[in-house]
Amino acid sequence: MNKKIKFFQSIHFKIALVFILLLMITVEIIGAYFVKQLEQQNIDSFKSRITIENYIQDQLSTDLQNSDTDTANANIRDLLNESSIANTADIQVVDAKGTVRGDSNVNAQNNIGQKSSNSRVKNTLYTGQTYEGFIYDGDNGSSNYTKIIPIKNANTTGDENNVLGAIYIRANMDSVYDNINSIIRIFLIATIIAAFLSILISIVISRAITRPIDAMKQQAIRMARGDYSGQVKIYGQDELGQLAVAVNNLSVRVEEAQEASEAERRRLDSVLAHMTDGVIATDRRGNVIIINQTALEFLTMKTEDAIGVSILRLLKIEKDYNLRDLLENQKELLLTFETEEHHKLILRADFSLIQRETGFISGLVVVLHDVTEQQKNEREQREFVSNVSHELRTPLTSLRSYIETLNDGAWKDPEIAPQFLKVTQEETDRMIRMINDLLALSRLDLGTSKMEMETVDINEFFNYILDRFDMMLKTDNEHTGETQHMHQNKPKKQYTIRREITKRDLWVEIDQDKFMQVVDNIMNNAIKYSPDGGVITARLLETHNHVILSITDQGLGIPQKDINHVFDRFYRVDKARSRKQGGTGLGLAISKEIVEALGGQIWVDSQEGKGSTFYISLPYEQMDSEDEWDEV
Ligand code: ADP
Repeated sequence: MNKKIKFFQSIHFKIALVFILLLMITVEIIGAYFVKQLEQQNIDSFKSRITIENYIQDQLSTDLQNSDTDTANANIRDLLNESSIANTADIQVVDAKGTVRGDSNVNAQNNIGQKSSNSRVKNTLYTGQTYEGFIYDGDNGSSNYTKIIPIKNANTTGDENNVLGAIYIRANMDSVYDNINSIIRIFLIATIIAAFLSILISIVISRAITRPIDAMKQQAIRMARGDYSGQVKIYGQDELGQLAVAVNNLSVRVEEAQEASEAERRRLDSVLAHMTDGVIATDRRGNVIIINQTALEFLTMKTEDAIGVSILRLLKIEKDYNLRDLLENQKELLLTFETEEHHKLILRADFSLIQRETGFISGLVVVLHDVTEQQKNEREQREFVSNVSHELRTPLTSLRSYIETLNDGAWKDPEIAPQFLKVTQEETDRMIRMINDLLALSRLDLGTSKMEMETVDINEFFNYILDRFDMMLKTDNEHTGETQHMHQNKPKKQYTIRREITKRDLWVEIDQDKFMQVVDNIMNNAIKYSPDGGVITARLLETHNHVILSITDQGLGIPQKDINHVFDRFYRVDKARSRKQGGTGLGLAISKEIVEALGGQIWVDSQEGKGSTFYISLPYEQMDSEDEWDEV
């Protein structure tokens, strides 16, 4: 994100470059113009200086007309020395015939009297025109200014050739050019210094511009990282200063917005975390982006294993559905999961779309609701209804067949009729018992069966119930003859009750009638499922906060697989056997409801073929020793 900007791409460099280029262009234009002007002026002034005074020209004209050559030459030499430019230039005087008559150069005196070879001089002698020109001497690298002035006879008129000779001036211009060059040098040095200074100034200025920009850039980078603590330093009141203020304000605003959305997110997180429903949100492609704790618990997963996984895979429905199914016909699904402890978990999954205003689908929300209990209840209810119908149909069908047979004439048979009538009475009794049991259960279920709680000495009460069973055995035996005769049945089953009961009084709060019903039930079962002459052991003991009653028989026991179900409604290990013995399959279910309503617990321990022990525990509070003293 924070890509390093190369120096040559930076604003810093660009500003400096523009600055320097502008300065260079300006300096170059001014310099070129200035140098050109200076050169022209210097040359012009040099040229104007190179001239021969008029009186010397007049005198020369006179001397050239003098026939006495020697005198004339001597005069000419003096005149040339007198000239103001004798020191700066070579002056040569040539007569009309082209013969050199005088030379200011001391070293060229032997030229005098010789013919001039210069064609320009000849041209001037011929035309009488002044010549001006520059000659560059390549040999010694110097520039010369040449001027040839004709000397005319002042006294003649008309067009006749009155040229008496010519003055040939040759002036070295090196001093002029040296002068110009030194000015150019100064100019160059000044330009270089100016360039350096401008580089420095431009660096300073561009730094002044780029420093606040850089500071703002750093702030923007920090903000992007989520650090809003910094503030951009404000360097001035200019546009950059205002921008810096705006960036600082922006930073505060973004931080506030960020905090608000963070708080919102935390709220949402905590709502999601504390929901009892599982919530999963996916992106457009159906991959999980949010999953709450409950959903993780349902699916027995960790967050990191769930995030990014397809919702179809997560819910293990990839075989039956694709994402399109979920998006198009979002509906409820019932999903069954096996948990680690081999328990079934039934979840209802409600799917809904996350849709933008434009209709664009940006994801899917799945709410998982645990309906295991609900499903179980519903199933139990259905089973219960079907069980009730079945349980009632069996005695009714048998009743009908007996009545039909009686109706078909059997009622006249003195042998069969009483026997059949006895069976119909038994079946009717059983149905009445079952209906009574069902009513009792439904009252317990609805909570309409009120518990009449009394504090009872359970020790005495248990003994009293057991006494009744002993009595029953006695009276049965006394009437055996009669009973045998009436029912033409085998003798009543024999049993012995052995009591292992504590001597202490144990005061417990119970509903006597209901509790008696429970003990009766268990005792009746013990007798029912015991072999003839079996021993039934009744025990009562106390722990520090419970009393525990147990009834052990020597009967056929309960297979391990059924042991958890014997308290279920209508559950019998051996249906046919139970029914034959007049059982409804509701006795233990009612017992369980009652014991639980009394705040206790009921359970069974059994070894198949050896016998079973049913336990009832009830909450018990030991009396203080003080209270015992009071009673004594
Ligand atoms: P039932 O009317 O059939 O006895 P219960 O609810 O009292 O109904 O008992 C449920 C089932 O539990 C019985 O059908 C029987 O299979 C089993 N059972 C109850 N008590 C004993 C016991 N003492 N020994 C063996 N099996 C028993």
